[in-house]
Amino acid sequence: MDCPICGSDEIEILNSKQKTSKKKFTEEYLLKCEDCGHVFKDVVSLKKPRPYRIIISEQDKSHKTTIDLSPSDELEIGDVLLSEFGQVEVSGIEVGDKRVKKSQLEDVNTIWASSIEIPARIGFSVDLHGEVDSYKLDLERDFEIAPGDVVKIDNHIVKVHVIKTQERKLTSGFAKANVIKRVYSKPVKFNNYDYDLTKNIFKKSERD
Ligand SMILES: [Zn+2]
Repeated sequence: MDCPICGSDEIEILNSKQKTSKKKFTEEYLLKCEDCGHVFKDVVSLKKPRPYRIIISEQDKSHKTTIDLSPSDELEIGDVLLSEFGQVEVSGIEVGDKRVKKSQLEDVNTIWASSIEIPARIGFSVDLHGEVDSYKLDLERDFEIAPGDVVKIDNHIVKVHVIKTQERKLTSGFAKANVIKRVYSKPVKFNNYDYDLTKNIFKKSERD
């Protein structure tokens, strides 16, 4: 807020009072302009938080719950909220029957989010000429995997060929674990490797 007399934004808060009514939080400020000395009042009011429907995905599961947010706030994809399942990142916002990237919460019906408390779970396939060893791995969400990486996993040393993410198949570049669905690899006859994922194996299966 700026001084209504001189336009300065060097404002000192002399006093503030909070008022709560049925629907609103109101904060009344007594302010003083540090440039011209003018004393004035300002009122900020926020609508009281109300529960919003939120669907939180966590690994293979999803939780339907609610989260209390002020309808006066704005919500955007990528925002981090604190839910009963810990921190979640907003991945979808439904307004009416449309999905939007950003909205005033007032208009929002449903929020989709994914947990960022927990490691990312990805699939990892080792192609053994027809047979496939398939693993589920738990990785730090920002762990980076690139096509061409040489990886030790279980009793294999493999080279990453293709990374399937939520949106595309990568044969170059890199991807972070939180967007990876599955990594495809083939054994190589190396003794050295870039990193070892054996300790990250959550489950091994022939095929999933
Ligand atoms: Zn002023």
